[in-house]
This record gives sequence, C-alpha cells and structure tokens, in this order.
Amino acid sequence: MASKKIAIGGISTECSSYSPLYQKEGDFLSLQGQALLDLVEYPFDDYNIQAHPIFFNKSVPGGPIESSYFFKVKDQFIKELKALGTIDGVLLLMHGAMYVDGIDDPEGEWIASVREVVGQKCIISASFDLHGQVTNKIVSNIDAFAAFRTAPHIDVKGTYWRSSQMLAKALNGNYKPCVVWSPIPVLVSGEMSSTFVEPCKSIYESLELYNQEPNILDSNLMIGYVWADTKRATASSVVTCTNQESGSVVCRNIAKLYWDNRKELKSDMKSGNIYDAINWLGEDFSIIADSGDNPTAGGVGDRVDVLKAVLESNIKDALFAGIASKSSYDELKKGNQFNLGGSFGGGGPSLKLTAEDVYFENHCAVVKVKNTTIIISELRRPFHNLADFDSLKINLKDFQLLVIKSGYLSPELQELSAPSFMVLSSGAVNQNLSTIKNIHRKKQIFPFQDVDQFTPEVSNGLSLIG
Ligand SMILES: [Zn+2]
Repeated sequence: MASKKIAIGGISTECSSYSPLYQKEGDFLSLQGQALLDLVEYPFDDYNIQAHPIFFNKSVPGGPIESSYFFKVKDQFIKELKALGTIDGVLLLMHGAMYVDGIDDPEGEWIASVREVVGQKCIISASFDLHGQVTNKIVSNIDAFAAFRTAPHIDVKGTYWRSSQMLAKALNGNYKPCVVWSPIPVLVSGEMSSTFVEPCKSIYESLELYNQEPNILDSNLMIGYVWADTKRATASSVVTCTNQESGSVVCRNIAKLYWDNRKELKSDMKSGNIYDAINWLGEDFSIIADSGDNPTAGGVGDRVDVLKAVLESNIKDALFAGIASKSSYDELKKGNQFNLGGSFGGGGPSLKLTAEDVYFENHCAVVKVKNTTIIISELRRPFHNLADFDSLKINLKDFQLLVIKSGYLSPELQELSAPSFMVLSSGAVNQNLSTIKNIHRKKQIFPFQDVDQFTPEVSNGLSLIG
C-alpha cells in the first residue's frame, strides 16, 4: 500500500475580550519539526503515514489577538500547507477560544482556509480544548474531532492521541468519519465545571460509555469560554461518528445531560471577597487563589488588589506567586524602591514599595517587603507547578500563606491538600459572571438569563439532522 501523507499544526490560545492587553507575535511560542512530532507523539509510521509538521503556535492565554498577527500566521500556515502538495490528511491542534477583533469565528476561518487548500477528499481531524467554541463553520470543515475530557487539563497528550488515531484509522481503512454537534445554551467558567467534581465528573465519565455505542468514534462535551463576549460563545456536544443518525442520538443525549445539570454547576472551592479570605485564614499553611487576574484563563496577572489587602492586614509569611511587571523588575535592578500594580494595563491599585531584600532568578525578582515575599516576573506566567518554586530556590514550607493567580488549583498544588480559598477578585476573568459585560452573546443563555426550555438540535454544520 502506498504510504499516505499528512500535515500537522495549528494555533492555540484563549483570549478574554475583557483584557486590555492584546496578544502579539512575540507572545507565541512556535513548535516546529521534530519538537512538534514529539508533542503529538503518535506512531504514524506504524500506519504507513508520513507526518509533515508545519507549526503549532501557542501562547499563555491573554487578551484579544492583533488581527495583523492572526492573518500573518494563518497565511503562513496555508502557504506551508500548499507547499506540501497533495495530502491525504491534516491533524489540526487548536484551542477554540481565540478572539480577534472583527472576526466572529477565527478558528472557523483558519479551518475553512485549510479545507480550501486540501480539498474535500482529505481527512481533517481536529483536537480542541474543552473551553473552546464550536461553530457550523468549524464542524462543516472537519471530519473528526476530539477535545480534552479533563479540566484542569491532564489529558492533553491523550487528546492528541485520540485525534491522531481517528485520522490514522480512517486513512488506513479508507473511510471518512463525520462530525455532528449541538449547541447547549449554558456558559459557565472552568471553575464551575471542573471534571474532578460533580456534576461534570459523572458527565465526562459517561462520554466513555457513549463511545462504546455502534458508529460512535469520539464523544465530547464542550464547556465553551465564558470570558469572551461573542456571538459564538456557547457550550456544545460534539460527536465524531461513522453514521450521522447514530451520532445525532448521542449528541442529543450529552446536550440534555449537561442541560439537566446546569443548576448544579458551581465551584467546589470556598469563595468570597478578599476580606472574607483573610478572615477565613487559620493556623495551617493555606492557599488563596486570586481568580479574576488568572493568566492561564486570560487574565493579565499584574494586579495587586490581594497584595494590598494582605500587606494592610499584617499577615505573616505570605508568598505571592507571582505578579507580572516588567517595569518593577527593571526598577529593582537599579534600587530597592519600586512601584507595583497594573503595569501591563490590567488595572486595579498601584503600590509604592521598598524591598528589604531582593534576588533575581529565572526572569523573576524575588522580593521581601515586610513579612511578605513577592515573586515579580518579567513576563506574564503562572506558578502552578512545584518546579516553578524550586527553580527560584523557594521552599513552600517556609510560608504560612501562598497567594497565586489562579482559579481552581493545578493538580500539583491540589496535591498539597492545603485549605484553599478562591477570591472573586476583579480582572479580565472575573468569576462573578453576573457583573461582566454581556452584549454580543446569544440570548437566552444560562446563567446570564434564566432559561427554562431547551430542545437539542443537532447539525453536521450544513444542515440539521433528524
Ligand atoms: Zn482549557
């Protein structure tokens, strides 16, 4: 059998339309060549498939993407795709929550451009984040779809594997799968829909059972992305199948299941304002998550609202990890006086501080102010892994309180089993959904409106099914 040829690549980020900080070319890391093949880590050779990596551009979530960058990178991808000549398949690694000014459906535009180049016979298999958006334009231009089934995400590789497997098997078996989807009028934060707590734990477990049904290749529930005020923002069920009618039944069932549980969607962390959090602190080592400014959800990560309150309360041995500020980092290189807060445009208060001690490591300034240690990072970044602290020579055992820019805790921080509190703070990813601007989202959508009735409608992207 002659070997088949596929292309691999895509773009992944999450963009809060409430952030003032635009994402530019320099914010993206580009994986190419062997590094991209290693990321996907699928044995295409075993299926007699030659995989040609194009590029996969990825950024820390943030604000809207500059449209000039979007068009430049999309055109580059299409150019490199064309240069490969005739191909049999494409593995697209996407997120689904890009926001580009003036474009309603950036991923849809990207995928439609890919389809235009490769033609109808080519099999396009897409991998998405479950916080991504799906549209008719996306669904009508792909043949297979797999999204993460865990949030926090611990199945990124597994999802690439599922998309790759559907592509490899279809190419070897000479068949073309199809994708059907159903929008669900529900839109909540990741914190309200963690797959490690109910109701999403059971709902996501049931996806495995749907996959056992005849003609079903991959069942998905998309939570969607709540911090972009766009027309396409919605949850949805998405099913890859070999028969649209079978796919449609499963799609309806998943949509109904999520809809029926909508009122149970809530964060399992204690939450409240910063003063509630300070009053809640006990004797044990504790974690406070500053959720409205969480860079991994699209927040800016430069705000000092929580720091201000903690300094004013004279709390002992607190560690802030971290606060992003290039200007404070530069000031500290010159002396011990520095200003901190909102330096990337994230808003909130600004503090004039004096460092009692400072050292520099790994693009961070680790500063001591009164009883508090603050990690000031030159770039926007999370501190979600224990290695992040090790690399700065910080021992968490030296602290009573850890304040992080986060919503739900990352798996490694969760393993510390520390009492934790989510502050519903201001910022580009404010968890207090009733207060965020809601102009472009479809009406009616829960919890923005109190919707009572919902009958799932399933589509293959071109027309309704059944
Ligand atoms: Zn996500």
